[in-house]
Amino acid sequence: MRKLSSIEVLNKKIKIIYREMEDWGECDLDKGQIIISKKCLTNPDQHWWTLVHEVTHLIFEMTGVAFMADNDEEAYVRCVENLVIPWVLKHQHLKKK
Ligand SMILES: [Zn+2]
Repeated sequence: MRKLSSIEVLNKKIKIIYREMEDWGECDLDKGQIIISKKCLTNPDQHWWTLVHEVTHLIFEMTGVAFMADNDEEAYVRCVENLVIPWVLKHQHLKKK
């Protein structure tokens, strides 16, 4: 699949970098970048959900949610990624026109 070079998250330009790595992805708000495993390039579905996961991390960091005293960020990210976003994508027909 085609590589992305950058995306926009809350009006901030985020660079997308591809690298050989153990995990599927990681993000660095200070550097304004998301790193995606090259493994994802052969699997568009994995690529999409890795991107969603890392974007969710960035949004939690940008909005300060990630800096709460009891930070269970990974759990919140997985909840949004695995439950909230799929639900929204599946139920868009409920949105009144
Ligand atoms: Zn994560």
